[in-house]
Amino acid sequence: MTSAPAYEVLRHTFGYDEFRGEQRDIIETLIGGDDALVLMPTGGGKSLCYQIPALVRPGTGVVISPLIALMQDQVDALRTLGVKAGFLNSTQDLDERRLTEQLFVAGELDLLYVAPEGLGVASTQRLLDRGKVALFAIDEAHCVSQWGHDFRPDYLNLSMLHERWPDVPRIALTATATSATREEIATRLDLAGARHFTASFDRPNIQYRIAAKQEPKRQLLDLLRSEHVGDAGIVYCLSRASVEKIADFLVQNGIPALPYHAGLDARTRANNQSRFLREDGLVMVATIAFGMGIDKPDVRFVAHLDLPKSVEGYYQETGRAGRDGQPSTAWLAYGLQDVVQQRKMIETSEGDFAHRRNLAAHLDAMLALCETVQCRRSQLLAYFGQAAPDSCGNCDTCLTPPESWDGTVAAQKLLSTVLRLQRERGQKFGAGQSIDILLGKTTEKIAQFRHHELSVFGIGSDLREQEWRGVVRQLLAQGLLAVEGEYGVLVLTDASSSVLRREREVMMRREPAPAARTKAPKPRRGSSAAAAAPDLDPAATEVFERLRAWRAAGGQEGGGPAYGIFHDAPAKEGGVPAYVIFHDATLKQIAALRPGSLAELSTVNGVGDNKLAKFGQQVLDALAG
Ligand code: ADP
Ligand code: ZN
Repeated sequence: MTSAPAYEVLRHTFGYDEFRGEQRDIIETLIGGDDALVLMPTGGGKSLCYQIPALVRPGTGVVISPLIALMQDQVDALRTLGVKAGFLNSTQDLDERRLTEQLFVAGELDLLYVAPEGLGVASTQRLLDRGKVALFAIDEAHCVSQWGHDFRPDYLNLSMLHERWPDVPRIALTATATSATREEIATRLDLAGARHFTASFDRPNIQYRIAAKQEPKRQLLDLLRSEHVGDAGIVYCLSRASVEKIADFLVQNGIPALPYHAGLDARTRANNQSRFLREDGLVMVATIAFGMGIDKPDVRFVAHLDLPKSVEGYYQETGRAGRDGQPSTAWLAYGLQDVVQQRKMIETSEGDFAHRRNLAAHLDAMLALCETVQCRRSQLLAYFGQAAPDSCGNCDTCLTPPESWDGTVAAQKLLSTVLRLQRERGQKFGAGQSIDILLGKTTEKIAQFRHHELSVFGIGSDLREQEWRGVVRQLLAQGLLAVEGEYGVLVLTDASSSVLRREREVMMRREPAPAARTKAPKPRRGSSAAAAAPDLDPAATEVFERLRAWRAAGGQEGGGPAYGIFHDAPAKEGGVPAYVIFHDATLKQIAALRPGSLAELSTVNGVGDNKLAKFGQQVLDALAG
């Protein structure tokens, strides 16, 4: 049963016709005064789960979020919907803070965003006592997890919410899916009595692809030029240096790109983030420091040029693509060097054995995903404990099934090379030297160490160098070979001997032929509007383009359509992000429908009362003009 008020808010404030997934049950739980713990993938619609109860219940919904840089945008977006929202954090001046506090105490706020560190302060706690709190929403709740890379010590104090305000319902939300994280959140936030909601983690509109890394820069450029012309996207790199290098490279090749990493000063970071959110079609090249809480809905691709450290990380990062439900790409280039580098990093990392073992287990799961010949999506979902069909039809292994081959003999050749180097010579080398030996190359290093005298010299000329690299990579991924020490030299593992003794078969994924370009499963697209609207006919595409231009002007100009909605909205540079006015998906629907009246326009998903009043006539004018 849906309570009428929740549905009314959904329709009139947010302009949506239906609840998505479990939103309704979650919202009812909170309206009824109970606690909830919500695991939902990025883009699943978590915000409505606390925003609607905050609007329905008397008092203010207090949202705890670590993302203070995004609070202004979140609040602006809510104000555009006619929701009375404010925030308290260290970025605002005293006057703004006082005003927000007054509004809260006077019961004039529907939603109040606060930083976790702010809640620990006695004055904030007293402030909350002076007003009425409708609920507490703990966003990004996985920040309580000490294993995760988003750990925030201040989150550990949030269990006090329950002690101090036992009657206020709480909702904790995260996009991190594992049951271990869920248990940790429940324990640390004292949410034992909460109802648990776990949504399907499938993101059907994201196409997962993992390619063998050959010339990563060229491969990236191919992807952007053939499938993502004019699209916004994120390129993740491991190091600050490679972020800078790749951003420069893209700019030199005519693709508008910006860097983002922790080594840039705070202003540049804020500025680049703001441009990425506000402008259409920018590519952000970033370390994983970028992205949490970025709710830009039209990120069309996420590309990884380095191997993520865990499946959790990979899933969270790729999840930033396609929050609007439109087709999007998650592309990862991965090679031997990635495996060697990450294994090395783990081995030389600080922390005890248990910590290193934990890191290694995470890496192994990631490698298994990379090397699978099965559907990527079903493997991902299985990792998160969710059932999935065997084949999804929208990942690289489903679209172009990889060939597997019996690599047992190749594995034996490679492993015996490593064994002989060690037994006969007492030497350990990196992958390159073993491959050179197998290929029978006459390099300086071969001559220097007289490796041409080894019996395995030249016995591997049946495979190309790239294929041998694939063999090493897959042996590492399967734990049949290991790397050691600062130089990443190859060593045998306990499991290696079973291969050398011919007790087990080793099946491998075939490496792509050298000249093979990354095949694009999606058709080539033309202009940026066409890129964002592949399913519109040419006439509607033209209208969509016009609407986008209208939206861009509105989002950028001071005094444009986004202002004056809330009389004390602080004027700020740059205006609100374009998607705060209307999403691409909404503009597309409008372009296809071409409504002739406000009433007709109001039927479009994403057009609520406030936006209709504010922008409706402008949209009709843009359609007519
Ligand atoms: P999350 O926080 O889970 O990543 P959001 O709350 O930002 O996701 O929602 C993702 C997108 O889906 C937003 O653009 C939001 O407006 C939209 N959305 C959420 N719920 C609904 C719904 N019931 N109907 C239509 N769109 C929705
Ligand atoms: Zn698949």
